[in-house]
Amino acid sequence: MQDCIFCKIINKEIPAEIVYENDSVLVFKDIRPAAPVHLLLIPKKHIPTFFDLEEKDSGIMGDLQLAAGRVAREMGLEKGFRLISNCNQDAGQLVFHIHYHLMGGRPLHWPPG
Ligand code: AMP
Ligand code: ZN
Repeated sequence: MQDCIFCKIINKEIPAEIVYENDSVLVFKDIRPAAPVHLLLIPKKHIPTFFDLEEKDSGIMGDLQLAAGRVAREMGLEKGFRLISNCNQDAGQLVFHIHYHLMGGRPLHWPPG
C-alpha cells in the first residue's frame, strides 16, 4: 500500500534494521525501543487491523507466530518475552499495517497500561 510506512520498509524504500525475513514475514527493530529487545513482526501482505483479517490469512498469521518463537530464541530470550498487538485507537495503534511487538530482555510488568 502506497502510503504505509511498513509497506515501504517491506519494499526497501525506507531503511530498517531487519533481523529476520522470509517469503511472508519481516521482522525489524522498533525505532523507539521500549525494552532491550523490541522488534516488530509484520506480514508482507498489507492488512490494516485484526478486523480486516480473512480466513485465507490464517497461514500468514501463523507464520508471524512461528517467526516470533524463532527470532526470540535467536535473540537469547529463553527467559521470556512478550508478543503484543495494538488494535485501533483505544489500544494506541499508530501504524495501520497489522503487527506484533516482540519485547524482552528485562522483566515485563503485567497488566500493561
Ligand atoms: P503501534 O501501531 O502503536 O503498535 O506502534 C507502531 C510502532 O512502530 C511504534 O512502536 C513505533 O516506534 C514503530 N515505528 C514507527 N515507524 C517505524 C520505523 N520507520 N521503523 C521502525 N519502527 C517504527
Ligand atoms: Zn502496509
